[in-house]
Amino acid sequence: MGDARCSFRVLRSRFALGLVVALGLLAGSAQALEVRFEPVAEGVYAYVGDMGPRTVANEGLNANIGLVVTPAGAVLIDSGATFESARKIHDAIRRVTAQPLRWVVNTGGQDHRWQGNSYFKTLGVDIIAHAQAEADMRSRGGEQLDGLRAALGSLAQGTVPTLPTRWLGKADERLELGGVVFEFKYRGGAHTPGDMLVWLPQRQVLFSGDVVYVDRLLGVLPFSQTKPWLATFAAIEQLAPARIVPGHGRVTDLKTAQAETRDYLLALRAHMKKAVEDGVEISAAIKSFDARPFMHLLNAAELMPGNASRTYLEVERE
Ligand SMILES: [Zn+2]
Repeated sequence: MGDARCSFRVLRSRFALGLVVALGLLAGSAQALEVRFEPVAEGVYAYVGDMGPRTVANEGLNANIGLVVTPAGAVLIDSGATFESARKIHDAIRRVTAQPLRWVVNTGGQDHRWQGNSYFKTLGVDIIAHAQAEADMRSRGGEQLDGLRAALGSLAQGTVPTLPTRWLGKADERLELGGVVFEFKYRGGAHTPGDMLVWLPQRQVLFSGDVVYVDRLLGVLPFSQTKPWLATFAAIEQLAPARIVPGHGRVTDLKTAQAETRDYLLALRAHMKKAVEDGVEISAAIKSFDARPFMHLLNAAELMPGNASRTYLEVERE
C-alpha cells in the first residue's frame, strides 16, 4: 500500500515534470525568432537585431538589417547569419511588400552580413559586396560557420558560405533601381576589411553596416582597422544623413553616432598613440585608458580590453 502510494507520487511528479517540459517547449516556440521591419523613411525599413551575443533565440541575427522598396523591386541590406534566418528575413520582406527581391547587399564580411547568402542565391537575386570583402569572406567563412554551429546548433543547418555574385571595385559606386539611387562608399574597411556604406541620397538615409555602433560598444577585432574606420566615418559626416541605420543598436542620428562610435575610436587611438610614443608597455596602456565615457554602452566591460590591446598594436605598426 505504502509502495503503491509512493509510485503514484512518482507518476504524478513525472506527469508534472512532463507538463513543465511541454509548457517550456510551447513558450520556446512562442519566442521563436520573428523578423519585423520597422519603417525608417518612405520605402525604407530596418530590422533592429539583438545587441548581445549570437543565441538560439536570435538565430545569429544580433545585428541590424535594412530593406529598401522601389517600384522595380526590393533591396535587402545584409543577408543574415544562416540559411534559416535568411528564410525568415525573406518572409518579413513579403509582409512589407509584394515587390520581388532584386538585390541583396553585403555591407561587410561579418557572418550576420553575408552567411544568409546561401538562401538568397537560391532565389537567383544579385548579391552585391565590395571587392575588398572577398579575401576576408574566403578566409573566415568556414570558421564563422563553425562558430554559428556551436552557438545555434541545428538552426545553422543548410548554411554554406556563399560569395556575392557582383563585386564593386571603386571607392564610390552608384546604382539605381526603380528610380531609387543607391550610393556605395568604401574607404579602406572598418570593423571588417570589406565594410561599405550604403547611402540613399533621395531619402537621406544611411545604412552604415558595422561602421556605426550605438547603444552597445563596437568591437575592434583582429581583422579590424581603426584608421580606415575613422576615414569611413568621416565619409558619413560629409553626407550628413538625416537618419542612420547602424550596424548595431537603434536607428539613430549623426550626433549619437559621433558620440558612441567616432569619439570612442578617436579617444582610444589618441591614448594608444601617446602610449607608444612614450614607450609605455601595452598592459599599462590598456589599464590607463579612461573608459568611463563609454562604460554605459552594452558589452563595454567584455570588449574594452581586447579593443584597447588591438588598437595599441595597430598604432604601433603605423
Ligand atoms: Zn556586426
